[in-house]
Amino acid sequence: MSSPTDATSRGHLSWMEVALEEARRGADEGEVPVGAVLVQDGVALAAAYNRPVALHDPTAHAEMLVLRAAGQRVGNYRLPAATLYVTLEPCVMCAGALVHARVACLVYGTADPRGGGVESLYHILEDPRLNHTVQVISGVRAEESQVLLQEFFRTRRQPSCSRGSGVASGRGTEVDVTGPTRNRVVP
Ligand code: ZN
Repeated sequence: MSSPTDATSRGHLSWMEVALEEARRGADEGEVPVGAVLVQDGVALAAAYNRPVALHDPTAHAEMLVLRAAGQRVGNYRLPAATLYVTLEPCVMCAGALVHARVACLVYGTADPRGGGVESLYHILEDPRLNHTVQVISGVRAEESQVLLQEFFRTRRQPSCSRGSGVASGRGTEVDVTGPTRNRVVP
């Protein structure tokens, strides 16, 4: 027998695995590997990975795509009983969308020190000036989420003859991999 708390945290871990699977799909397609799944009553309403490159759409973050798909599925843009799982801390845009959707809970993997709108740079989901707050659980499978991002950016930064192998010399050649972010320009 396990306590409800254990069962809940097991649930978080396994739903985050679904999000990680989505992130891996994104990496296979050359997108910054971030995955998300929206869950309600123990059922996945929608799952997606980051697709701004393929869709030529700066709003096509994994979180936005699952919110859109889930809204279509239930016929309502408000999802007050839903929990969003995402591998990376949501940006300002996605945090705003979570507020608009009235999502109950956010569970995320690794922090985004350069673009996070939930805890790193801003605290949009718990700002009392807004008309809705979202419960936040962070650090779930954070290491796997971060390794995926680091691997992705590392392989994208293999030095080439034309670019030289030295230090970053401008846009798209950042070398600091300590803070994964999907806002970083990929060479
Ligand atoms: Zn976002």
